[in-house]
Amino acid sequence: MEKKKAGFSCPVANKCGGCRYTDTPYPEQLKIKQKRVEGLIKEFGKVNSIIGMEEPAHYRNKVHAVFDFQKGRGIVSGIYQEKSHKVVPVEGCLLENEKAGDIILSVRRLAKSFKIKAYDEDNGYGLLRHVLVRVGHATGEIMVVLVLGSPILPSKKSFVNELCKLHPEITTILINVNNKRTSMVLGEKEQVIYGKGYIEDVLCGKRFKISAKSFYQVNPVQTETLYKKAAQYAGLTGKETVVDAYCGIGTIALTVAGQAGKVIGVELNREAVRDAVANAKNNRIKQVDFYQNDAGRFLTQMAEAGEKVDVVFMDPPRSGSTKEFLNALIRISPKRVVYISCEPETLARDLKYLTANSAWRMEEATPVDMFPFTEGIEVVCALSRRKGKKAN
Ligand code: SAH
Repeated sequence: MEKKKAGFSCPVANKCGGCRYTDTPYPEQLKIKQKRVEGLIKEFGKVNSIIGMEEPAHYRNKVHAVFDFQKGRGIVSGIYQEKSHKVVPVEGCLLENEKAGDIILSVRRLAKSFKIKAYDEDNGYGLLRHVLVRVGHATGEIMVVLVLGSPILPSKKSFVNELCKLHPEITTILINVNNKRTSMVLGEKEQVIYGKGYIEDVLCGKRFKISAKSFYQVNPVQTETLYKKAAQYAGLTGKETVVDAYCGIGTIALTVAGQAGKVIGVELNREAVRDAVANAKNNRIKQVDFYQNDAGRFLTQMAEAGEKVDVVFMDPPRSGSTKEFLNALIRISPKRVVYISCEPETLARDLKYLTANSAWRMEEATPVDMFPFTEGIEVVCALSRRKGKKAN
């Protein structure tokens, strides 16, 4: 990829839709994001300066490509053109881990030489649909998921041998079967064809098991920065009862466990909860329990049972939290809340609801640039109750 002094240039920038700022110098991108966050949440409290990356390119540890057959070109791999199902061939990407990008190109070449056909979304013919590569930033472990329209990969053994010969850093390969007409990449069924079926990564000194379907932050360097800020906002002293809501594979719960009395994690995705439980065991952390449930329902049950909670971390998906969750939060009335958001619009909506319906206030917020070159922004907020007031 050609690197310009100020920004970067990408040959598919106008078609892809993944990046917004390929030609915008990085300091400028940070200014735009800072302004956007301030515009949305400054009315609730102080917004600190955004924390950017020193080396903003190739941060993504999870890389995906879709396959297609194109006349004159044969099998291609790339991304969907923005707002369409047309596939734009990609040879390299500014965001993606470079090894993962190389592996995708090798899968494409091998598919050609093994005469494996790309899956056709319109008629359901063909086999190879997507490839997903996950890289453990600290461990170097690499998972390759071949998403197929049907379960049988012809010459499976030789395909695996060839791929591993080209990329000995691959530690596991899976087949995932997705035969549905859906924009979701992964289907239900999974078969491990090489290695242990998952990768591990190290974050804030703890080791995490990551399955194909579990959520794991895509920018490991900035995740550590984000979690450190979140832990600082929580102000734990070693005694507190902590809830980690929307906990994924338990990364926040397990990294703060050493500074808390007890941690309770809640997460909807079954596989992620399974990973979280394994992660607690592997890191020999005892004072953490994980529950598979809707975070709103779970917190409401805790409120009804009169459970005492000192600190709540909440890290909902882009859609934000729910009134059910926020109402339960108000009832439980912890000492502190740390809200981590990957979508400032829904963060602003939830802050508005909280401040209008309770004594909770945003003390300060710090944007963290987890997604350079794209419009994405992560924000971590410290919330507390107004002095002398109960929550409601
Ligand atoms: N804190 C984790 C995960 C954050 S992403 C981390 O930093 O890695 C948001 C998580 O919320 C995802 O794992 C998703 O599966 C989960 N989730 C989505 N809706 C949920 C709900 N209603 N209740 C609980 N968890 C939910």
